[in-house]
Amino acid sequence: MHEQILDFFRSLHNTAGVIPLHEPKFIGKEKEYLNECIDTNFVSSVGKFVDRFEAMLAEYVSSGYAIATVNGTAALHAAMILAGVDANSEVITQPLTFVATCNAISYCGAKPVFVDVDEDTLGLSPKSLETFLETKTKLIDGKCINQATGKTIKACIPMHTFGHPCRIDEIAQICNKFNVVLIEDAAESMGSRYKEKHTGTFGRMGVFSFNGNKIITSGGGGAIITDDQNLAKQAEHITTTAKMPHEWEYAHDMIGYNYRMPNINAALLCAQLEKLDYFLENKRSLADEYSEFFSGVAGVDFVAEPQNARSNYWLNAVRLHSEDKRDAFLRVTNENGIMTRPTWKLMNELDMFKGCECSDLSNAERLHKEIVNIPSSVRI
Ligand SMILES: *Cc1c(COP(=O)(O)O)cnc(C)c1O
Repeated sequence: MHEQILDFFRSLHNTAGVIPLHEPKFIGKEKEYLNECIDTNFVSSVGKFVDRFEAMLAEYVSSGYAIATVNGTAALHAAMILAGVDANSEVITQPLTFVATCNAISYCGAKPVFVDVDEDTLGLSPKSLETFLETKTKLIDGKCINQATGKTIKACIPMHTFGHPCRIDEIAQICNKFNVVLIEDAAESMGSRYKEKHTGTFGRMGVFSFNGNKIITSGGGGAIITDDQNLAKQAEHITTTAKMPHEWEYAHDMIGYNYRMPNINAALLCAQLEKLDYFLENKRSLADEYSEFFSGVAGVDFVAEPQNARSNYWLNAVRLHSEDKRDAFLRVTNENGIMTRPTWKLMNELDMFKGCECSDLSNAERLHKEIVNIPSSVRI
């Protein structure tokens, strides 16, 4: 059976070398736009590609505003500062995520609180969130107070794992009810929709990453999206060292960050975004082929997009029936030049976050033991 699986991977991704998990594809106007940056000398944070990309992104996801940043982690950090997350805050998120989500919470001096994920979406579970808020918190003066710590639950950051949308509309309703700011970590889900609406547009702010391994890339990059004009202005301000607009004076009205995306990265990203629809189609057809193939393989279940969702299928995944079987699958594929990976070690098990409050996390624990990501690059 193993040989058959290996052959299938090889037939899908025809390459002589190692089949990567996810590699970028530059098949559009990348070189043309990059040359334009160099020819015009506009390579840094002021330049038309930054503005052009922000306009293109806002239009693509139907959001009011987009602010481009140096990376997704910086976007998360800035979004949380704007949401008022501070050392007196706690932020609810999921344990099954990339460490950037929790790092950004920590940069604000706040602590993460972990609730479980849903087994079908792999993303934050509205049930687990609601149970935590109902049993552990109290609304006092409009603030959602964690009764055990006395701290304010300021924000909730669900993540759309591997591009699969979580039950984000239910999560939004619950956050509203408990006066918790919703920020979506949509780093992995550019182009994914839930009930026709783009991920990243359900909360007060949404965050994308354009790191080299994401569905479109600027080398390194990120963005904050929001419908709130005032927040958008503040996001631009805080990510450009809080410099006050003036023809020649250097004056800053708060501690800001040098988090703005350089023009050269935005140039690459404009060309990438022009190809996103093609990438989405291409990745969906790969997912379809995986789905059909693994439906005939006992003990390996393909992870399909959840109900009501249209996933970008950024990273495809399969689910094995035990940790031992997962490890065997990882070993055989990697030993044969097919790159596969387990999910991230759960955040609540990392040394830095070990003391953080956790709900029952059975789903996340089970999924971590059973899921493997498989090669998912766009095929040309
Ligand atoms: C990639 C990613 C980020 C942001 O990463 P950067 O490398 O800083 O752009 C944040 N959260 C998740 C879940 C991610 O996968």
